[in-house]
Amino acid sequence: MLFRVRRLLLRSDRFLTDAALRVECGRVVEVLEKPGRIQGKTVDLDQGFVCPGFVNAHAHLELGGLAGRLTATGFVGWVRELVEARKSQGKADFARAFEGGVQRLLATGTTCVGDIDSSGVCEERAAPLRIVCFREVLDAGDPVRVPSALRRIQRALPKKRLFQEGLSPHAPYTTSPELLAGCAKILRRRPLPVAVHWAEIAEEEPWLLRGEGPLGELLRPPSTPLGQRGLELLKRSGLLDGRLLLIHGNHPAREDFERIARAGASVVHCPGTHRFFDRSAFPLRDYQRAGIPIALGTDSLASNEDLDMGREMELASQSFPEVEPREIFRWATEGGARALGLGDRLGRLEAGFEADFVQHPHEPADAREAVLALMGPARALKSWVAGSEVRTNADA
Ligand SMILES: [Zn+2]
Repeated sequence: MLFRVRRLLLRSDRFLTDAALRVECGRVVEVLEKPGRIQGKTVDLDQGFVCPGFVNAHAHLELGGLAGRLTATGFVGWVRELVEARKSQGKADFARAFEGGVQRLLATGTTCVGDIDSSGVCEERAAPLRIVCFREVLDAGDPVRVPSALRRIQRALPKKRLFQEGLSPHAPYTTSPELLAGCAKILRRRPLPVAVHWAEIAEEEPWLLRGEGPLGELLRPPSTPLGQRGLELLKRSGLLDGRLLLIHGNHPAREDFERIARAGASVVHCPGTHRFFDRSAFPLRDYQRAGIPIALGTDSLASNEDLDMGREMELASQSFPEVEPREIFRWATEGGARALGLGDRLGRLEAGFEADFVQHPHEPADAREAVLALMGPARALKSWVAGSEVRTNADA
């Protein structure tokens, strides 16, 4: 199948006018410039421009039913509200939220998402976009709960189209070292991407080091404090490597940067959640200086207004006006792909990459204009995943 495209953004710095994508078996096999007359079956995409689908590296789609319901401004109060609100939600609510989330992602130009699955809804369902399903485990730091926490993730998930398995030990303060070790053992047999909420709030460190601080309102104090920081715990358990996505990373220590860079792990910044909690500046420049790859995520609707990566790019650009917009687009595409372990298949359009692309309504003249058009509320005209046009509920 050949897609003839009037305006084509292949990656952050490559824009073509009058081009074509040859797609076979769900992948791009050739990019043609000025192809002239074409024989055979073609799809003409004259309107707007086409670009790689966004890769949202961190979401909790199942929490969509809590949109606008949590109002506490502090993190500990918010978690307490979240735990309480979840009690009123059943599997059907999580499934409805998941479906709604998938539709919203597609409508705003995302074709791949790293979704944290606590309810089991994501692992059970099929979706028309690419999903890395991170099965979440935690034991609130209580080793007695380790066997039951591990039981759910012992067995690999069955293979499904557009679906990949991942693992998410929730956070160093909600997972005992025994649980982290259990996860590491599983990962030795199954090399999966691993997502961990890390250094999201400053209060994690005093809790882990000394069992002190406001996290004691949520967790039972350990008889002996762990005496180690979060990254140390991840490293000791063998989880700090190139498969690790460090979610948030708002409060790293100085010595963390080199360790993360050496391990090849990615940091996922969630601008909407950052704004929701009115957090101090994300330490972007330190990560960049260390050469640590950045990805963007929407996080959940319990702490964000939307699942729109265009909006996340705009928020990131407002926080870091000195960063070239095409760099921010790279975080939202190639950065997310790399973080999810799909960097050699997703995030740009070139031979050998998945044919995951989106048609947007604007008519830019070059790469910079195209990226600027994507900043802010995004609207996809049509989306293709693995070369097939994705039908959404809105099309029905
Ligand atoms: Zn999260």
